[in-house]
Amino acid sequence: MIKSKNDCGISLSEKQIQNLARKHGTPLFIINRAELVNNLNRFNNFLPRIQPYYAVKANSHPEILKVLARKNICFDVASKGEIESLLGLAVAPERMLFANTIKRTESLKFAEKQLINLMTFDSEYELYKIAEFAPNAKVMIRVKVSNVGSIVELSVKFGVEAADAIPFLIKAHRLGLKPIGVSFHVGSQCLKVENYVEALEMASIIFRDAKLKQVPLEILDIGGGFPIRHFDYENDIFAGMAPVINKELDRLFDPTIKIIAEPGRAIVGSAGILVMKVIGKSIRFNKHWYYLDDGIYGSLSGLIYDHCKYQYKILRKGKSQISTIAGPTCDGLDVISNSEEMPELEIGDIVYVPNIGAYSIASATNFNSLPLPKVIAIN
Ligand SMILES: *Cc1c(COP(=O)(O)O)cnc(C)c1O
Repeated sequence: MIKSKNDCGISLSEKQIQNLARKHGTPLFIINRAELVNNLNRFNNFLPRIQPYYAVKANSHPEILKVLARKNICFDVASKGEIESLLGLAVAPERMLFANTIKRTESLKFAEKQLINLMTFDSEYELYKIAEFAPNAKVMIRVKVSNVGSIVELSVKFGVEAADAIPFLIKAHRLGLKPIGVSFHVGSQCLKVENYVEALEMASIIFRDAKLKQVPLEILDIGGGFPIRHFDYENDIFAGMAPVINKELDRLFDPTIKIIAEPGRAIVGSAGILVMKVIGKSIRFNKHWYYLDDGIYGSLSGLIYDHCKYQYKILRKGKSQISTIAGPTCDGLDVISNSEEMPELEIGDIVYVPNIGAYSIASATNFNSLPLPKVIAIN
């Protein structure tokens, strides 16, 4: 196991954060390039047999894609737009996996034209679309697996029953496509290694049956879900999971089988910091309320869409009291937290959130015409 200090993140000092906020204003979203590379190395060290395809949806900011494209890694894309961003950075088509199981026909045609052939599916209707608009596709069947204990559930909307995998792969073959593998997703921010263990066991059975049915498979895609730490005091769960996953891969899959994954959060989560400022203050229900210049409709959208909990850090010291922090919009939903222990803040004080690189600015809006954060990349 790898255990150096760097493995738990390259963090910025409070002084650096304050200086950047002064220089650029707030809200400010800081991308830490060195941390991105650190996370990629960490992933490769943890899971040496697995080739990562970065899930672009986690954060598609060009500064992030640029760093990863230069590292020559592969990408999980879900739309024509994501493909175009990568083509613009000269990422070769062989380095992309079209992993949205439901694809627009325009996107399929575009993928075919750009020679992006590797894709996932989980319905017969999708196979007919793929056969018509991307006849050179190599397809992986996405199978439903347990998402219990994962923070974001993905097994209701996606995946076929394991028992249906082989008939779907045979169907793909009959339609002239190349059935090439199996994919699954254990749910995002997966906290239970058992999800991977069960899914791998199930996938290995599909591999064995596929061989018997004359549709031999070459690629296993174990999806994303690898968890990150959101709070300073949290354990590094991923570090404990990795050896278990490696052992199961070696036990169940022949070395000739290519193993890939689609990490999003694990690559980008700790590489993003959101810096906000207190823009207003009130006393409501005998509590201090602080209104910040970013909120649920903006970069903290992960509170809703990602079911995420964040750590809110401040630079001021003092006796702490339970306080509420809220976003800047005119909607009552835009309350960030009702129970933050913090000393009394003043208007102009900084509140910052580490480990917010994934599913944050990716799904932010400028509701109320409030500004999205300025994004800068450092290191
Ligand atoms: C969102 C998504 C991912 C990334 O998941 P993380 O939990 O961020 O690693 C990977 N694959 C697919 C198909 C996804 O939809």
